[in-house]
Amino acid sequence: MNVFLNPGHAPDGNPDPGAVNAETGLRECDVAKAVADLAEGYLKEAGVTVVGNLQDDSLAAITDAANESGADVFVSIHCNAASPAAQGTEVCIYPGSAEGEKLGGCILAQITDALGTANRGLKVRTPGVNGLYVLSHTDMPAVLVELAFISNEEDAELLSSRQDDFARAIARGVTDYEQMQGKKTKG
Ligand SMILES: [Zn+2]
Repeated sequence: MNVFLNPGHAPDGNPDPGAVNAETGLRECDVAKAVADLAEGYLKEAGVTVVGNLQDDSLAAITDAANESGADVFVSIHCNAASPAAQGTEVCIYPGSAEGEKLGGCILAQITDALGTANRGLKVRTPGVNGLYVLSHTDMPAVLVELAFISNEEDAELLSSRQDDFARAIARGVTDYEQMQGKKTKG
């Protein structure tokens, strides 16, 4: 299986760091990059081919690269932000994508099991309503993982101190999905 990873927001936060924790200064772009790089290593160890790991402020460049990469699945990695009380993990998917739903479910289960974050479920993001560019413009099953809330004190601590566990969980989610595919294609 070929995987394309997309840590969210701009490299080194320039010009777009994504969400930032007001107290600690922890930046979404840095968490996403660290987790994606660690996940790339774990995926490779598991025999999964990582055909891209691209962080860029041009979303069109990312989806063009993904569509040309031969990726079977696309995984974008982000941190959520809202009021300080909001916490937990959610995975955004494209409407009507059964494969995106399966992949998202596998990753969501692994992260919430490993980190103990609240399971906020799969979130369908509909173009023209609340669509997400990287889900709408990729040709393959795609998910956008909101690891946890960088704006919440407990979640931000996990995002800072347990990046390796988030990365392992993403890699396990992908291989869980791959095994589901294998079973299906073997009848
Ligand atoms: Zn983001």
